[in-house]
Amino acid sequence: MQPQNSLLSATGTTIFTVMSALALEHGAINLGQGFPDYDGPEDVIEAAAAALKDGRNQYPPLTGVPELRQAVAAHNRRFYGIEADPNAEVVVTSGATEAITACLMAVLNPGDECVLIEPLYDTYLPVVKLLGAIPKLVRLNPPDWALPRAELAAAFGPKTKAILFNTPMNPTGKVFTAAELAFIAELVQRHDCYAICDEVYEHLTFDGWKHIPLMTLPGMRERCMRIGSAGKTFSLTGWKVGYITCDRSLAPNVAKAHQNLTFTTPPNLQRGVAVGLLKDDGYFAGLSAHLQAKRDRLAKGLAELGFGVLPTQGSYFITTDFRPLGFNGDDVAFCRALTEEAKVTAIPVTAFYASAGAPSHYARFAFCKGEAVIDAALARLRPWVESRGRQLTAAAG
Ligand code: PMP
Ligand code: GLN
Repeated sequence: MQPQNSLLSATGTTIFTVMSALALEHGAINLGQGFPDYDGPEDVIEAAAAALKDGRNQYPPLTGVPELRQAVAAHNRRFYGIEADPNAEVVVTSGATEAITACLMAVLNPGDECVLIEPLYDTYLPVVKLLGAIPKLVRLNPPDWALPRAELAAAFGPKTKAILFNTPMNPTGKVFTAAELAFIAELVQRHDCYAICDEVYEHLTFDGWKHIPLMTLPGMRERCMRIGSAGKTFSLTGWKVGYITCDRSLAPNVAKAHQNLTFTTPPNLQRGVAVGLLKDDGYFAGLSAHLQAKRDRLAKGLAELGFGVLPTQGSYFITTDFRPLGFNGDDVAFCRALTEEAKVTAIPVTAFYASAGAPSHYARFAFCKGEAVIDAALARLRPWVESRGRQLTAAAG
């Protein structure tokens, strides 16, 4: 038999699936893959359920049902003052995952360079490579994950077509500052390229941190493809409804990419999401307040156990340094031991790095879980951490 696609053959199964399967196998509490263990808003679910029964179950329009495109436009105006034409500047996709691929497909030709920021979400790099484009990786470093400006500037060049980045950022919990975004905007304009903005955690920010879409910066309206996800904004990760806002000059190619990937997205889910995006401001404020309380609960518990807990300004995730616990192995060994022995699952942060020399002593915990689940996970971790401490003391004695 001839060899299959070499890039896919060389890519492993996503770490989220691997760790969720391991959690299941060992009966572990899964703080790995980022999904809430509670349902999204009842009115959104009711709207989707009702929509299944009113006879509109055939292919919806290619770029999304009108009510969702209008709701995306209204949401852009309400939260960010972005004016977008719902008929020409919004494309609905089957999740942000598809949206990311569609935006990359819309602009990249083989040989083009695409700037990516590590740690990065796991679909970015394979898709850039599958398109024959050349990734240029720039690395953020813990514990502050600040943007390394000189390195970022050096990654841009005459062949740069696009930058793809994520704020609020998975797995770091970083929210890019206005100054960092201004620096990126200047580079994008100077090199006449596009920005693909993965903003799936746009409403999940804490401690007064505000998400700023790159698209709102001067000169960036026409250059940005801004991606949102109903999965994150409505705690319905299984729905896989994403939405792209971009200039009318970009939307046709984005739509053609979508036409070749999935063509359309289930209409009842789209109509549910339209109801969600029109919910009042209180819903969105409540979402981040609830998550902030969960973040605080898990962060406090992990810090009390001795983890080095890095600050989280947004997203579903806390990154922790496990070296203070006395664990000598790498993050993959740590997350495996945690799952098998303590029966709690986390994600090794090296999964978000593609180039050599990534820091290998961080584990990511998801806090989008009920309080009882967070408490149960902490209760399971305590004896495990304590027994490791005893082993260390014995070894030292
Ligand atoms: N981007 C990032 C940074 C994510 O964490 C996720 C998580 N699922 C996605 C994209 C994909 O979102 P969706 O589930 O809407 O495809
Ligand atoms: N975005 C989720 C995470 O980072 C997982 C999505 C997936 O499983 N592909 O945990």
